Amino acid sequence: MLRRTLFFSVVLVSLAFFIEAQQHRQSRTKRSSQTQRHRRRARSLKPPVTSFVTDSGGRELIVRLLDIGQGDATYIRNGSSKVIIDGGPDTAAFGRYLDSLSLNNSTIDVVILSHQHLDHYSGLRELFKTSRHIRVQYFFENKDPAPAVTLAELRDSILSRMDRDSLIYRDTDDPCSNGRPICTITMTGGAKLHLLAPLPNGDGPNNRSAAVKLIGPDSASFTMWLAGDAEHDEINWFDATGYNRNPGIRVNVLKADHHGSCNGVTPRYLELTHPQWVVASLGARNDYGHMHTQAKAIYRTAGVPWYRTDQNGTITIRASGKPGGGFTITPDRPGTDLDGPSDRTSQQGACTMGMK
Ligand SMILES: [Zn+2]
Repeated sequence: MLRRTLFFSVVLVSLAFFIEAQQHRQSRTKRSSQTQRHRRRARSLKPPVTSFVTDSGGRELIVRLLDIGQGDATYIRNGSSKVIIDGGPDTAAFGRYLDSLSLNNSTIDVVILSHQHLDHYSGLRELFKTSRHIRVQYFFENKDPAPAVTLAELRDSILSRMDRDSLIYRDTDDPCSNGRPICTITMTGGAKLHLLAPLPNGDGPNNRSAAVKLIGPDSASFTMWLAGDAEHDEINWFDATGYNRNPGIRVNVLKADHHGSCNGVTPRYLELTHPQWVVASLGARNDYGHMHTQAKAIYRTAGVPWYRTDQNGTITIRASGKPGGGFTITPDRPGTDLDGPSDRTSQQGACTMGMK
């Protein structure tokens, strides 16, 4: 009884949703140390699944890796809390998901942009379309300077809502505005997200990806690691900087970094994350050769099966939140360890030498 009372007290104190630490207004000044890399282009978008079973409230944690084409878009639901990580390359495709997930006229508690590439931020502009009446409570991104007009458009929408006091805009380099690299977000069903500051001096947008460790309401049942498009430099840094110990990166499910690129995985990374499943988000026809043969070989050698959105469609993970309840992972279309039409062997040096 006491434990039950304590649990409900904790939930009540959390007041539906909270983020540790106080809000501090972010400076609009952008760091100027980053170099601009090529823009990713969206290709071969497939129409997304158009209807979902209504996501329940309660303690169940639901993660949907959306079939958004060549890009990333993840929707997380737990209790009444809603979180979106990246919005894919295309507003129309992401908009159809907002419709099918019944997110119009609702509040999204947290939106996280992992990094400044079009295949991650472009669809997020749809959240701010007036006719959708979507309220965004917190928006996180690293605020690095980037010249893309479409990114400027997104940032203008964010700043305009911030000026109206309807949105809190946070820098992933200081995600809780308290000088600490880890910000813990608690969802109303008891799931937690640790939002982790990116590599401070990454050599481009990919290596400036914010990482997220998602922990189910029953932490023994489900955990997941998502690190945007982090490449070897940042992956090694996750290890060196101590994220491997706090909050720990050993998880049940790993979102393949960088759409299954060989520069987004190393044997050591799989040793540390030790996932039961890898899920990759990519378009069937992409210019990059994703998923790379070398990446698949590393997953295969480690004995980790994968699902991929271009072949399996949207991938849904559910964790009941009950102690020992485990989790399920269900793709729209069956088949594991599938190949795709664009898969090829990468010639980039990072994938042919110095792997560890
Ligand atoms: Zn990407």
